[in-house]
Amino acid sequence: MLPMLEKLRKIVQDVDSAPNFAAALTTMVASVRDTMGTEVCSVYLVDDKSNRYILMASAGLNEDAVGNVSLALNEGLVGLCGAREEPINLDDASAHPKYHYLPGTGEEQYNSFLGVPIMHRRKVLGVLVVQQRDKRKFDESEEAFLVTLSAQLSGVVAHAKAIGAFESLRASSPRSNMTRLFQGISGATGIALGRAIVMYPPADIDSVPDRVAEDPDAEIEQLHKAIDAVRNDMRQLDAKMQGSLLAEERALFDAYLRMLDDKALVAEIEDRIRGGNWAQGALREVIETHMQAFAAMDDAYLRERMADVRDLGLRILAHLQQQEEEVVRELPEHSILIGEEITTAMLVEMPLERVAGIVTVLGAANSHMAIVARALGIPTVLGVADLPVTSLDDTEMIVDAYQGRIYVQPSRQLRSRYKEIIKEEQQLVAGLEAYRDVPAETPDGHRLALYVNTGLMADVARAKDRGAEGVGLYRTEIPFMLRERFPGEEEQRAIYRQQLEAFAPRPVTMRTLDIGGDKDLPYFPIKEENPALGWRGIRITLDHPEIFMVQIRAMLKANIGLDNLQIMLPMISSVFEVEEALHLIHRAVMEVQEEEGVPLPMPRIGVMVEVPATVLQIADIAALVDFISVGSNDLTQYMLAVDRNNSRVADIYTPYHPAVLRALQMVVSEVHRIGKPVGICGEMAGDPGTAMLLMAMGFDSLSMSASNLLKIRKIICKVPYLQARGLLEQVMQVDNAAVIRSLVEFELEDLGLIDLIRPGKK
Ligand code: PEP
Ligand code: MG
Repeated sequence: MLPMLEKLRKIVQDVDSAPNFAAALTTMVASVRDTMGTEVCSVYLVDDKSNRYILMASAGLNEDAVGNVSLALNEGLVGLCGAREEPINLDDASAHPKYHYLPGTGEEQYNSFLGVPIMHRRKVLGVLVVQQRDKRKFDESEEAFLVTLSAQLSGVVAHAKAIGAFESLRASSPRSNMTRLFQGISGATGIALGRAIVMYPPADIDSVPDRVAEDPDAEIEQLHKAIDAVRNDMRQLDAKMQGSLLAEERALFDAYLRMLDDKALVAEIEDRIRGGNWAQGALREVIETHMQAFAAMDDAYLRERMADVRDLGLRILAHLQQQEEEVVRELPEHSILIGEEITTAMLVEMPLERVAGIVTVLGAANSHMAIVARALGIPTVLGVADLPVTSLDDTEMIVDAYQGRIYVQPSRQLRSRYKEIIKEEQQLVAGLEAYRDVPAETPDGHRLALYVNTGLMADVARAKDRGAEGVGLYRTEIPFMLRERFPGEEEQRAIYRQQLEAFAPRPVTMRTLDIGGDKDLPYFPIKEENPALGWRGIRITLDHPEIFMVQIRAMLKANIGLDNLQIMLPMISSVFEVEEALHLIHRAVMEVQEEEGVPLPMPRIGVMVEVPATVLQIADIAALVDFISVGSNDLTQYMLAVDRNNSRVADIYTPYHPAVLRALQMVVSEVHRIGKPVGICGEMAGDPGTAMLLMAMGFDSLSMSASNLLKIRKIICKVPYLQARGLLEQVMQVDNAAVIRSLVEFELEDLGLIDLIRPGKK
């Protein structure tokens, strides 16, 4: 007998791999009945329209009853189970006062009854029931099994409801013109409306058979030709993107070229050809071996690298198979590229002026393709796990990359609504132009500095265009992520110099390497049970002074003659860490001074407040440095103990939480008390609602993504400081995040500024 856990896994797997929702339900009831050895298993789901439980699938009850039998929400044992939100386990169901006989089902022969609610996010979606002739109570392990299973399957049901599969099943034939909704994660914000173009990988490596190489030398020659051809393609792509992507973002092509130049990789394929396989088979074997090695590492960034190796393999194969179709596909205007996986190389081969959006099944927000899509300003949604890609070619869709949503075959109303939103967005952008060159000063004379957060060179151009007064957060890990090894001192110096030069004499705040947590480098994987509370940020760099020192030295050298560098330390959780980092920075200044033979000014040093402990020790810490900057993304995560990347708890991750607001207010007062400046560089700074509160709290500077700069400058210019203070006083009395958010939104509405957070709402 399979152990319980195995059985559970098997059922969940079977249900997950069912081709559609109807099949998933049928599989679910059949497998539960077989596994538990009962005579009946049925699933009843709540129909939101009729507000009744509908018998949606059954193994054991009359087939005709399925889809036709229903119960009111408070009716029968199913109703009782749902209302109590707990299992109902009876040896003689008909003896229970709530028993409600369902004619036509054939259930009268069954005596024992075990029902468990199907719950998702605190809501009852339905009830899963097993029944048996024997008059017996199900034992504890059976009850526990069904409860566990129901909890695991609830996601499938919730998802089906979300995308309308439940309704289409109710209507018994899928309505072909129904809008379907899919949820993913946002890779690059914006909205696109267009038709889907399915992107396939350049070749199908899995179906390449093994075949004896008749002339191994000729096979090897072919291999080299194919590799040369791919090398050429990569150079062409690189050249094509020179106008739209900066060197940073084009680093991938170099990486591809280096992989192609990797003698070991080519030798591995050659060895297999000499071992008897033909070139295509040998290539498949080598790619498979590398894929397995990568898969075993189970790390997001390595998976990304895995996609690159696979992509490269497919490109070589395409040339071996001489499938050299024209590289530039004919794309209609407003194409939305969709695919299992779309690599950066696949994307940039396209005529980009026609690409309106990108949607992929796999992929993460920090993948290289997402970074490039952001730089190109193409709305992108990734990780849409259940997108039926191949059936969607040429289908109309809306990509709402603000919310990570895809609407397939949108209704007329939805389409016109989104068209309006796109228009309003454009008008908004146009209306905001007026705020490019004005200072961020409230009508009653309160002045703030508005800085930008950067990482890519593309951010620099956008920031300058929008009048940023400097860089409040340069995420140095981004150039590190786009490479294949730690960049050396000179390499780093050159990158930092570009940033400093672009803004001089305005300040550029460079954060020391902030990796770990959810940000790994492909070449420096960190495997931990609980990475958010693990080795990350300053903890890593203090453990690796060689990495820290190289970075600081590179920053100091880049700063020579410009003197606009500020250095900021991430993830500080104790005074000691600040002291240690300061000690290393002083040492680096002495070293560089000696080496360069010029007196070096000490750059201004700041600490990021991202950990609650730092909030409580803020005065001690601020006394040691020149400025403080709050990293509210992490601070919110740690204050509320809510993973900032976990969609399951996304609704409780809110900067409007009174505890977060109190912590921020405390930081500002304490830092000001000892006479130092304090800024904030998390997402809160770029949100019009929260920015209004931050301004009222007295933050000296707000630092945000370039795309929010003009909006926030408009808020500052329009909202009198005293009015914002009044609002802040009011919200600080409130103990509930949702109420605080509403109060802020009401205020924005009153001020006629609500369209800044919701284009389209007047
Ligand atoms: C933050 O945590 O608020 C922050 C700005 O840093 P990051 O988002 O890069 O972790
Ligand atoms: Mg952070």
